[in-house]
Amino acid sequence: MLQSFYKLQQVVKMGEIWSFVEVGPEGIEAVSLEIIGKAAELGDQSNMRTAAVLTGWGMEKIVKEVSRYPVDRVYYVEHGELAFYDPAKHANALHQLVEKEKPEIVLFGATYNGVDIAARLAIRAEAGLIAHVTYLGIDPSDGRLVGHVPGFGGGIVAVCKCRPGVLQIATVRPGVFERPIPTGHEAEIHRFSPKLHPTNGWRIVERRVAKVVDITRAEKVVVAGMGTGGELSLAKTLAQKLGAQLAVTRPLADLGLAPRDVQVGSTGVSLRSNIALILGVSGASHFVSGIRDVKTVISINIDRNAPIFQFSDYCVEADLFKLVPKIIEEFEKEGA
Ligand SMILES: Cc1cc2nc3c(=O)[nH]c(=O)nc-3n(C[C@H](O)[C@H](O)[C@H](O)COP(=O)(O)OP(=O)(O)OC[C@H]3O[C@@H](n4cnc5c(N)ncnc54)[C@H](O)[C@@H]3O)c2cc1C
Repeated sequence: MLQSFYKLQQVVKMGEIWSFVEVGPEGIEAVSLEIIGKAAELGDQSNMRTAAVLTGWGMEKIVKEVSRYPVDRVYYVEHGELAFYDPAKHANALHQLVEKEKPEIVLFGATYNGVDIAARLAIRAEAGLIAHVTYLGIDPSDGRLVGHVPGFGGGIVAVCKCRPGVLQIATVRPGVFERPIPTGHEAEIHRFSPKLHPTNGWRIVERRVAKVVDITRAEKVVVAGMGTGGELSLAKTLAQKLGAQLAVTRPLADLGLAPRDVQVGSTGVSLRSNIALILGVSGASHFVSGIRDVKTVISINIDRNAPIFQFSDYCVEADLFKLVPKIIEEFEKEGA
């Protein structure tokens, strides 16, 4: 029944593309704006309406702010039970709105919460889900969503579509699409009150908000790899002198020496910086997929055959423990 409705909708082209908007301690999450921008582009191409969707409580100011971005409408799913993050409740509430409005496509940022809610919604709605895409388009031959998902560190790209006749969901990697600018207009806001019950089998004992560092839009980044031996003080000092953000390769994040938010690569984040200064990184394919959009890559490696040099604009064959202190010294001489 649900499937035939979606088939009918595709024929008459009355569908909507939704962007699920997440709000963090500093306001609208960057990736939520990125998917709004992409949805606007897809909506233009395919003649579909676009909408931003928020689930929560007491979010009037943010909802208004979202309405100024390029969307045709904003759905605000509000309920006191959504004041705190409980993925089951947020997915349930969102599913009720999906049942009512029948969108064709729902996009999520591939954040911790985004993938959590997207997967739950996909199960509830018997939808198709394309996870962690780095490209989105509409196939003109059938109007279906196409998502590219890199595998093996970007060595292959899987071109994915959902099966016909179902709701299409995609989670989008942060930092891949451009953020749109506000339009100067305000989109219409639709409020929706889901039916939710307070029971969920557990209760919140304590709430802590972890500080998340977003390096995807940093202009300058210093990336430390295992060549640092896990000693990050040199890389940190250099980053500070350069006014850059510090990032790491996965082994350093695995060792707990840096938070996962600053891990670059296929299972981390993608950089779009002007400059990345890369210290003691071998250049494994899983890593280099995260530096493809960097304008200028400068690498320091002791091994002249290190693969990272194939992906670098400037290659410096040197021992970082000898070279980096000299660079820092030069900055200090100049009073930086
Ligand atoms: C499914 C999967 C997903 C993965 N996802 C990611 C990911 O998102 N991001 C990621 O980074 N990795 C990822 N990896 C791991 C990846 O394959 C590599 O193992 C990792 O990137 C290697 O990190 P590295 O370059 O810091 O360390 P290494 O490979 O150990 O390289 C260290 C480099 O430092 C150089 N060096 C040593 N001493 C010095 C010195 N004194 N001065 C200068 N250079 C020196 C060495 O020559 C070497 O090139 C993933 C792996 C798998 C299987």
